[in-house]
Amino acid sequence: MRILLSNDDGIAAPGLAALRATAADLGEVTVVAPDSPQSAAGHGITVRRSLTVRTAPLAAVGDAPPGEGLSVDGRPADCVRLAARHLMDAMPQLVLSGINAGANVGVNVFYSGTVAAAAEGAMLGIPAVAVSAEVADGEVDFARAGRLARWALERLVAIGLRAGEIVNVNIPAGPGRPRGLRVVRQSTAEIEDVYHLERGADGASRYRLGPDYRFIGHIDDDVTCLYEGYVTVTPLHVDMTSHARLADLAAADWGDPPT
Ligand code: MN
Repeated sequence: MRILLSNDDGIAAPGLAALRATAADLGEVTVVAPDSPQSAAGHGITVRRSLTVRTAPLAAVGDAPPGEGLSVDGRPADCVRLAARHLMDAMPQLVLSGINAGANVGVNVFYSGTVAAAAEGAMLGIPAVAVSAEVADGEVDFARAGRLARWALERLVAIGLRAGEIVNVNIPAGPGRPRGLRVVRQSTAEIEDVYHLERGADGASRYRLGPDYRFIGHIDDDVTCLYEGYVTVTPLHVDMTSHARLADLAAADWGDPPT
C-alpha cells in the first residue's frame, strides 16, 4: 500500500514520527509535511507565492528506519495536493495525517490542519485517516498514542476504507488503557475559549485568543466520548451539503431572477 503521511504540526513533530513508526509495516510511507507548525491552518492553500520543497532527514523511530521526507513551506492541504499530483511516483492509496498534539473533535475539525490534510486526500478520491491525541498537562505520550493509532488503523484497514472518506480518530489522554473505542458523531457545539484584550501603546485594540479552551459536547458525540476516556472514530465526508434541507429549499418558490 502506498501511504502518504502528513500533518499540521510540521515535519519535525514527534507525532509525525510516531505515526510513521505506526504505519511502517502497513505499506510504503512517503512523508510530505509542512516545514513549520500549521495548527489551525484549516483547509487553507497557498495561492500568492510558489511553494518550496526540500528534503528533510527523518530519524529512525520504532519499526521505521531512518529516511528522508519532504518539507513544504505551505499548509497541510498544500502538502497533500502537491504530493499526490507531483511529488509521488503514483497516487497514494491512503493518506494519514497526524498524530496531532491536541484533540480534533467537534467544530475543531473545521480549524484543524490535521483534518484538512486528510480531507485533501479525500477530495482526491483517496481514503484518509486523521489521528489526533488529547493533551494532558501540556503533554502527549506519543508512544502510547502511536500504539493506539496502530490498533485503530489495523481495524480500519480490515473493515475497509472507502475512497473519498475521512476517518477522524481521536485518542484520549492517558495514562493507561482507554475505556474502549466509540464510533460517534461530531459535536457541533461552539468551542469554549477566550479572547484577551491587549491595549497597545499605539491605542489599537488587539485581541489574542487564549491558550485555554474546552470543547463542548453532548451525549454520545466525539467530544463527550473522548472526555470520558474513549478512543473516538468519526467518519466525515467532503460533501457539506445539508441533504436534510436540500429538498425543502429546492421546493420553495424562488421566482424569477432579476435582470
Ligand atoms: Mn496541530
